[in-house]
Amino acid sequence: MDRKIAVVTGANRGIGFEICRQLAAKGISVVLTSRDEAKGRMAVAQLRSQGLEIEFYQLDVTDTSGIQRLGGFLERKYGAADILVNNAGIMADAKGTGMLGVQLQIIRTTMETNVYGPLILCRELIPLMRKKNYGRIVNISSGLGQLSEMGGGTPAYRMSKTALNALTRTLAAELKGTNILVNSVCPGWVKTDMGGPNAVKTLAEGADTAVWLATLPDGGASGGFYRDRKAISW
Ligand code: NAP
Repeated sequence: MDRKIAVVTGANRGIGFEICRQLAAKGISVVLTSRDEAKGRMAVAQLRSQGLEIEFYQLDVTDTSGIQRLGGFLERKYGAADILVNNAGIMADAKGTGMLGVQLQIIRTTMETNVYGPLILCRELIPLMRKKNYGRIVNISSGLGQLSEMGGGTPAYRMSKTALNALTRTLAAELKGTNILVNSVCPGWVKTDMGGPNAVKTLAEGADTAVWLATLPDGGASGGFYRDRKAISW
């Protein structure tokens, strides 16, 4: 059987960790990546103790040469990268800071992690997907990046998620006619370090739509934005 290979970024905790768990439970070989080696290995050990097939790869998504090394590793070991979940993300805006007050450095750092990292990962892994004409790319976005619902506050984060959605749309258009499907997801407000304790969704609920998009059948949707397995406006 053709066992799929999935790469998930920022997966030592939160939604990324749960996406790894759910993908591995479906029989997919998961490469759990984390910028911190010790935290990543602990996460892998926790999932392996549940009988899941998970391996660790150290990756900071702002490190371009690290992303290239990951591509080389996947090519040598599997000759494939079937699924990419761009999950790693930061919300670095200082509380109460708006568009006129946010430091440019905060915007730059946020874009490096939330947009340029996913872009470089796509550039590195899509050639491997093309070899098998199979790919599922899931960009973990946010309702805060929806132009149709745009409000004030968290400006760096909002701009980064809108840009990530543009990456989804543009790539999906450029890959039209292939079996490489690219979609964005808003996980909802999820109980994680980022979402905080008052969030309304469990980790399992927050990961569900991303896992659904990561395992779409051939001919499935591409270039969409989803929450709770339903299309939402951009
Ligand atoms: P989280 O608990 O804060 O986890 C974020 C993860 O990203 C951590 O593993 C963190 O690693 C990793 N990360 C940050 N910068 C990185 C980098 N440069 N390289 C590699 N990994 C990096 O957040 P979460 O709630 O699970 O969020 C996951 C995704 O969902 C994010 O893209 C977020 O924007 C999105 N989202 C979350 C919510 C929510 O309510 N929670 C809502 C909408 C969208 P460290 O442990 O090393 O910091």
